[in-house]
Amino acid sequence: MNKTVTWGSFEIPVVDTYDVVIVGGGVSGSACGIRCAEEGLKTLIVDQMNILGGSATNALVCPMMPSYVRHLPILNLIEQELLQAGQATRDNYTTMLWFAPERLGEVYEKLFYERKGQVLYHTVLVGVVTEGRQLTHAILFATEGLIAVGAQSFVDASGDAVLARAAGVPVVSGDDEGINQVSSLRFTMGGIDVEKYRSFVLSLDDCFSPLVEGYFFESAMVAGRDFKLEPLFRKGVEAGILEEEDLRYYQIFSIPGKPGCMALNCPHIASMQKNTTSKARSKAIVEAHTRIRRLVTFLQTMMPGFENSYLMEVAPLLGVRESWRVQGCYLLTEEDYARQARFEDGLVRGDWYIDVHSNKKGLFHQNTYEKGDYYEIPWRSMVTSTVDNLGVIGRCISTTFLMQASIRIMPTVTDMGDVMGTACALAKASSTPLALLDGTVIRQHVEAGLA
Ligand SMILES: Cc1cc2nc3c(=O)[nH]c(=O)nc-3n(C[C@H](O)[C@H](O)[C@H](O)COP(=O)(O)OP(=O)(O)OC[C@H]3O[C@@H](n4cnc5c(N)ncnc54)[C@H](O)[C@@H]3O)c2cc1C
Repeated sequence: MNKTVTWGSFEIPVVDTYDVVIVGGGVSGSACGIRCAEEGLKTLIVDQMNILGGSATNALVCPMMPSYVRHLPILNLIEQELLQAGQATRDNYTTMLWFAPERLGEVYEKLFYERKGQVLYHTVLVGVVTEGRQLTHAILFATEGLIAVGAQSFVDASGDAVLARAAGVPVVSGDDEGINQVSSLRFTMGGIDVEKYRSFVLSLDDCFSPLVEGYFFESAMVAGRDFKLEPLFRKGVEAGILEEEDLRYYQIFSIPGKPGCMALNCPHIASMQKNTTSKARSKAIVEAHTRIRRLVTFLQTMMPGFENSYLMEVAPLLGVRESWRVQGCYLLTEEDYARQARFEDGLVRGDWYIDVHSNKKGLFHQNTYEKGDYYEIPWRSMVTSTVDNLGVIGRCISTTFLMQASIRIMPTVTDMGDVMGTACALAKASSTPLALLDGTVIRQHVEAGLA
């Protein structure tokens, strides 16, 4: 092994070499890491934060959306760990899985480390070294400075396609005008009398919140859509506490294992039309901090049940629904959604609707499937014709803008991680770069794992 590698004008120490290096320990990257380690591969996950789970833990995104198709073993493993620990709940109405964000991160870490995986936290991918069509090293900014790690296979699970972009893979972002989906900065509040809040909401004859009893409760308000809470929010505007933009989207739900606490899936930051620069994201975060303070003040002063409440946590990571998407060997489209596409190399099944939080039109929802209907995501959407030993998983795989709004939910991206782990094991066993593997063979292995 070379002790250093040249990157531009830098000689960088190579600290270790792995079978697989995964950039991004979010929902897809953690699942991929667990599968790779399960297969006996020497696996490294690199993440800029200090808990696994990405958007689910650091952007406080919950729940896992309902899905009615067969899923793969790692998702089941994660769900069972959470349920057995009493750290997740189903609401008894849907198949959604709610969880306390940090407990999900602990489950990922436990499952990964039990299988001998390694994580580098607070470590950021800044570049790559290539030889021809192969990545040889990832260049990381770590606690000690710049370091390099080598691997046979590299996986981009960064959400923002940072590894693919560093490797020169073509990418696109946003819709036809480059406008991205709305981002949100989520937060949690404590000291809430949830039963009092639930009684108030139900007294309004609110039909969004059918959960009339039991621990779990969820409610919402979207302006102009006949939500029963809207008149109270309007009073907040009249009182000068809220501004009109605060009525765009409000959603709140209880958190397993945390009585008196609720998590908020807002504010929607529609002023950020394009989210692909640090400047734009930072401006959006500053705006969101102000809006969170307004929402907290409104709830404390005007919402029954919130009289003694307080702001607990603002997500340390901005909730980015969509940014860059790689241009891979197959572009999955909304036509594939409409025709419930099947592929010889179809590895993952998706059934969530095209759920665009649009900066232009508010929410955009395409027709939903019947339970059990699904489309397949082919292997070719997860590899590129630019770099042979690179796989891409999660919300940045090769899709159109609209189709990304379906594939992005957590059960689906978890399955992408699972199949990418299987592919990395095949790549090692056959000494074949990921993009040159036969997707139909990967499919046989994935299906054999379900038997
Ligand atoms: C506001 C919001 C609400 C949502 N609601 C739901 C919902 O209710 N249900 C649902 O199922 N889905 C929901 N989603 C979608 C879902 O959460 C995401 O699509 C999914 O988590 C994406 O997984 P991922 O693995 O692709 O990326 P992520 O989980 O975001 O992980 C990416 C990881 O890469 C790391 N990273 C990025 N760049 C670097 C770098 N240069 N170096 C090192 N590490 C890096 C990040 O720290 C992060 O950990 C929501 C998303 C958002 C933003």
